[in-house]
Amino acid sequence: MASLSGAGFTEDQISVLSKKGIKTGEDLLFFFPVVHVDLHSPLNLRDAEPGSTVSLLAQVLKSEERFARRRRLEAVADVNGFRVDLVFFHAIPWYRELLKPGRYIVATGKLELFKGHFTMSHPSIEIVSQEELQTNAAFLAVYHITDQFRKVNLTSAKIRDKIRLISDSEQISVPEYLSPQILQQYNLPDLKNALREYHLPKSRDTLEAARRRIALEELLFFSAVLKEQKQKKNRVAKAHIPQSNTERMREFFSGLPFTLTNDQINAINTISEAAKQNTPFSFLLQGDVGSGKTIVALSVAMLYIFSGYQVAIMAPTEILAKQHYSNFINFLAPFAMLRPEILTGSDTHKTRLQKLDLIKRGDINLVVGTHSLIQDGVVFHSLSLAVIDEQHRFGVEQREKLRKLGSHPDLIAMTATPIPRSLALAIYGDLEPVIIREKPPGRIPIDTRLFPESDLSRVYLGVKKYVNQGRQAYIIYPAIEESESVASLVSDFSELESAVFPEYRLGLLHGKLSSAEKDNAMRKFKDGSIQILVSTTVVEVGVDVPNATVIVIRNAERFGLAQLHQLRGRVGRGGEKSFCILVHSNRLTPEGGARLAAMTESDDGFFLAQRDLEIRGAGEVTGVRQSGGSEFRVADLRFDYQLIEIASDLIDSDPALFESIRASRPLRSVFRKSVISN
Ligand code: ADP
Ligand code: MG
Repeated sequence: MASLSGAGFTEDQISVLSKKGIKTGEDLLFFFPVVHVDLHSPLNLRDAEPGSTVSLLAQVLKSEERFARRRRLEAVADVNGFRVDLVFFHAIPWYRELLKPGRYIVATGKLELFKGHFTMSHPSIEIVSQEELQTNAAFLAVYHITDQFRKVNLTSAKIRDKIRLISDSEQISVPEYLSPQILQQYNLPDLKNALREYHLPKSRDTLEAARRRIALEELLFFSAVLKEQKQKKNRVAKAHIPQSNTERMREFFSGLPFTLTNDQINAINTISEAAKQNTPFSFLLQGDVGSGKTIVALSVAMLYIFSGYQVAIMAPTEILAKQHYSNFINFLAPFAMLRPEILTGSDTHKTRLQKLDLIKRGDINLVVGTHSLIQDGVVFHSLSLAVIDEQHRFGVEQREKLRKLGSHPDLIAMTATPIPRSLALAIYGDLEPVIIREKPPGRIPIDTRLFPESDLSRVYLGVKKYVNQGRQAYIIYPAIEESESVASLVSDFSELESAVFPEYRLGLLHGKLSSAEKDNAMRKFKDGSIQILVSTTVVEVGVDVPNATVIVIRNAERFGLAQLHQLRGRVGRGGEKSFCILVHSNRLTPEGGARLAAMTESDDGFFLAQRDLEIRGAGEVTGVRQSGGSEFRVADLRFDYQLIEIASDLIDSDPALFESIRASRPLRSVFRKSVISN
């Protein structure tokens, strides 16, 4: 093991580093740069966007102190022929010392456009030495330099220097757990070389190969932790194991108004089989919009209900919870003794207490609800199956809260945002996928078309044609109230009603309506008394009105691909041909255009999810960033999805590798940020 003092760090520096968990030379190699600055093709400021955070390689032209309203240091720097002003209000002597004219620096910060030129306020500054510029290095690694680092003179340049020393030393030992065959198969350097290269890159290609090797290490670590979690889960025993109840299940199935598809039957069988085990299962039931996931979950739920246990089903919106509830009442009608109940935010305090009491006593078998299911005061008698509909709308914590309402209950998480296996592994790694690919028979593909806003009157003419034939339509708006470029729902609604569709019955639906108003609109749309529903995306998920065959989406370029696909899924639910009309504004970005084009190309949710991933990046697609799930240090879900599968397969198929990675935890703990905590 290489020591830090051996590498020539001072006592002070060693103590600062050790507070960061960096105690050995090996640890330092795992202290990853935050950015690599391209030395040969620096960012061209002509393409830079004001407001974005960038790292610039710049030469200081001059720097001077000013006493305008506040004391400040202003430096002028040249970035590849463009002028950038750097302004500092604190630590002025330090920066004056740093920003000597003629010096090369890397400035990282937010780029603002001020009086016609680019300005950065308090960027973080890194000196780049002449030697470094003259080496044939392609990129310069820049580290996260805190004030503590700065105080003991620990700069990025110093760290690079020491890493050069350490990584050349014989004492350094970075274990490589992957066999030469595997490394060769995926064209990757060994870990030690990858680490050196990542800090001191020689070329774009070698840097990328190094990044991939380290990303794979991170993903191996991640997969190993997931596997451990699964093993742990397999050791707990669940409180309730449902009986087979073959007779009554047969009765239930024979009462269904349709024949289940093969995929539905397989999914039900797979899950029912797991229900008999004494350790709890966690399934991710993936199936495109309209593939019929609800009945799969309900069929499995019946097993538990017939055994006298309780089932909870949580949905993201009240509209959807109510729709499930009224469906379930129908499905349960033949079994008079079974009672479903619904819990939502619009229950009065008194009714909520009454319902909670019945649930606690076990008099209610099936509870459907919104988030209010996981709020205070809900106690189950024997919750043994928890179902989450539209799972991507909930965070990991909410899922866990629902699960905690029972004693190790089984879990089915459903999602209509089909994501590629790699992402599912990374994000829902603790859930076992069950996939429904087949759609119920007789569905006619939805005809999807693009129209510019200038063609709106033609679009509305088409809507009238289908409504005249007895069909219903949705018109979807991205926003409720007036905001600059977005067509606005409320102000447009009166015009639609009085001028565009005067002879039709219109309804308005958006999230700011009261719960009663929402119900009313939904009910009237369902029973056909509203012909055209003008709505925001509150109908995005789950809503099922088979007679609706046209959906017009205004400002379609503003929606994500998954969202558009979900919205499109509101039509095409009956036997009639359906249309999805995407109306876009005249200012269409290349990215927006690509999304809309993808929509016309395919109505396969899996294909679209992959496209979405390529166009927008994984964080957006999955909502991971917002819901605080996994986040990787080096791996990037946009590019590294194959690596996720490779890592997961390696960990699954190679017990020795799994053990080694597990045992290497202290060193690999730098990756812990990427591990889902539950
Ligand atoms: P999703 O998977 O999007 O949640 P749903 O469960 O809401 O889909 O089902 C969509 C529609 O298809 C519902 O009206 C449902 O009753 C119907 N459905 C489900 N399974 C079948 C089937 N096997 N045959 C015909 N219709 C079905
Ligand atoms: Mg659904």
